[in-house]
Amino acid sequence: MAHERLTDPFSVDRDFEARLRPLRFTEFFGQERVLENLRVFVEAARARREPLDHVLLIGPPGLGKTTLAHVIAHEMGARLLVTSGPVLVKPADLAGVLTGLEAGDVLFIDEIHRLHPVVEEYLYSAMEDYRIDILLDSGPHARTVQLALEPFTLVGATTRAGLLSAPLRARFGIQFRLEYYTVEVLERILERSARILDVELDPAGAFEIARRSRGTPRIANRLLRRTRDFAQVRGDGRISADIARYALEALEVDEEGLDEMDQRLLRTLIERFRGGPAGLNALAAVLNEDPGTLEEVYEPYLLREGFLERTPRGRVATARAYRHFGLPPPMHSQTSLF
Ligand code: ADP
Repeated sequence: MAHERLTDPFSVDRDFEARLRPLRFTEFFGQERVLENLRVFVEAARARREPLDHVLLIGPPGLGKTTLAHVIAHEMGARLLVTSGPVLVKPADLAGVLTGLEAGDVLFIDEIHRLHPVVEEYLYSAMEDYRIDILLDSGPHARTVQLALEPFTLVGATTRAGLLSAPLRARFGIQFRLEYYTVEVLERILERSARILDVELDPAGAFEIARRSRGTPRIANRLLRRTRDFAQVRGDGRISADIARYALEALEVDEEGLDEMDQRLLRTLIERFRGGPAGLNALAAVLNEDPGTLEEVYEPYLLREGFLERTPRGRVATARAYRHFGLPPPMHSQTSLF
C-alpha cells in the first residue's frame, strides 16, 4: 500500500534491504564456518526428504540472521514465514501461525528471546513432536486438545542469547553464532549490492565504505546508498574513494565506523571511570543501559577491534580507544601493548 509506505519511515529501508538480500549460499558472503556446516545439513536433510533440524542464529543486529533464514528456506526449496517474538503475545497467536504451516515450511522467529514464557512453552512440543496442546475452557471444565502440525523447521534469531531459556535453547539441534565481517568480505558484499543497484563503485570507494561499516553488512549497504546520493549530486555518479570519504564525513560517520553508542561507552569509560577498570553494572548504570545489552550487543565489536578489554576487575579502555578520541593514554594504562 503506497500510503503506508510514505508514513512508515522504515518500510523504505526494508524494501531496500529486501532487494539486496541474498537468497542462495553462493550469494551469502563470509561466515564461512557457518555456511560450511549449513550446506552439509541442508544437503543431508534434502536427501532424506525431511525438514532441516531447528536452527538458532545468534549475533548482533545486521549480521545476516534474517538473510540466512531466507537462504535456508530457498536452499531447502521451502516457503519462509516470518514473525517475531514480541508479535506473538498469546498462545493463540502462536497456534495460529503453527497450524497454518505446510509440510517443510521454514518458520522464522526474530527476537526469539522476547517470546512470552507462556507462548514459549507451547513451542516446546511443536518443535519436538510437531504437535501442540491447546487448553479449552478454564476451571473445572478445562481440557486440552492435541493438534497435529506438519513437520517444519524453526529458525530462531536472537541478539541476546543470554536471555534464552535453557529448555528452549536445548531444542535447537543446530546453533550458530554469527561474527562481525572483515573489511574484505564487506567489500565483496558492497560490490554485489552496487551491481544490483546499478551504481559504479571503485574498489577504493568500496574499501572506504567497508572499513567504516562496523563489520556489519546492513550498515555497509546503508552507507552505500547514502554515498550513492552524494556521487550523483556532487560527482559523476561513480563512487570513488574521494566521493566516499566526502560523503562519509558529511554524514559524520566515524573514521573507524564506531557508532554513537560505541563512542558514548568508550568516552564514559575514559572520562567517568578514568579508563577503567569499571564493572559492567556500574558502566551500564551510568550509560542508562541494560547490562546484558551492553555485554551482548555493544561490547563484542569494541572487544574485537581492540578498543576495549575485559579484565577480571572490569572493563578497560585501551590505548587505541584513547588515541581514537585524540587523548593521551593514562600512565597507569594496563594495555600499553595496543
Ligand atoms: P539481521 O537479521 O542479523 O539483523 P539481516 O539479515 O536483516 O540482519 O541483514 C541486513 C542486510 O545485510 C540484508 O539486507 C542483507 O542484504 C545484508 N547481508 C547480511 N549478511 C549478508 C551476507 N553474508 N552477504 C551479503 N549480504 C548480507
